[in-house]
Amino acid sequence: MSKERVVLRVENLKKAFGDKEVLKGVSFDMKEGETKVIIGPSGTGKSTLLSCINMLVTPDSGQIWLEEEEVTSAKNINKIRQEIGFVFQDFGLFNHLTALKNVMVGLTKVKKIEKDFAKEIAMKELTRVGLEREANMYPAQLSGGQKQRVGIARALAMSPKIILFDEPTSALDPELIGEVLSVMKNLAESGMTMLVVTHEMGFARTVSDEIIFMEHGHIVEQSSPEEMFKNPKNPRTKEFLFKLS
Ligand code: ADP
Ligand code: MG
Repeated sequence: MSKERVVLRVENLKKAFGDKEVLKGVSFDMKEGETKVIIGPSGTGKSTLLSCINMLVTPDSGQIWLEEEEVTSAKNINKIRQEIGFVFQDFGLFNHLTALKNVMVGLTKVKKIEKDFAKEIAMKELTRVGLEREANMYPAQLSGGQKQRVGIARALAMSPKIILFDEPTSALDPELIGEVLSVMKNLAESGMTMLVVTHEMGFARTVSDEIIFMEHGHIVEQSSPEEMFKNPKNPRTKEFLFKLS
């Protein structure tokens, strides 16, 4: 698979809330099929960065491109948002809808896909995350791990160019984390382009192509998992990884 085509490019992105500078000039890119993990202390701007990528938060300056399209100057941001999957820490499911309907809703309401076809796509993605038998259950009847897998199926159903994950397993009981990480690992192996904020170092080490260490609104270090774990260059990275181990 080609890992050369750039799917996402972020260039000198800055964002402040009031007088608090949260992103202080962040630049990186994502190639097709690549999985990148962002690690770093809380309050460092990781969620803000992800939210800027689909313009849920408007950056103050800098540019974002999704393939050839500049997101930061887009006239039709809703069209671009359809191409960027988002998996949230708290799942973000509609509690009054079944798993199947949760996955279908973006297809029917946003993409205006006819109901039977939307159902077919949704079932395919629920099957991919191992939830074909739970299709007609409501979120309240599902475990946290199952809810998050519905969240992933919902993102997949839109055929996004990239999926952003913001601490997808942080809200889960420890025994449910593995099933979600395993689905994500399969996705990464299938060639999906994925940008994942997580504290799961095992996932970072074994699944990612590259790790970004972010602190205080800066990318401090960016390298392969081997480099990052065996030979972190920056003292801040060393300290962060040391605290985790
Ligand atoms: P992380 O995801 O790395 O924990 P965040 O991006 O959530 O960090 O937050 C970075 C900083 O920005 C924090 O100090 C947070 O309080 C602040 N922040 C985030 N969103 C907002 C907002 N909508 N309004 C004001 N401050 C915010
Ligand atoms: Mg966060």
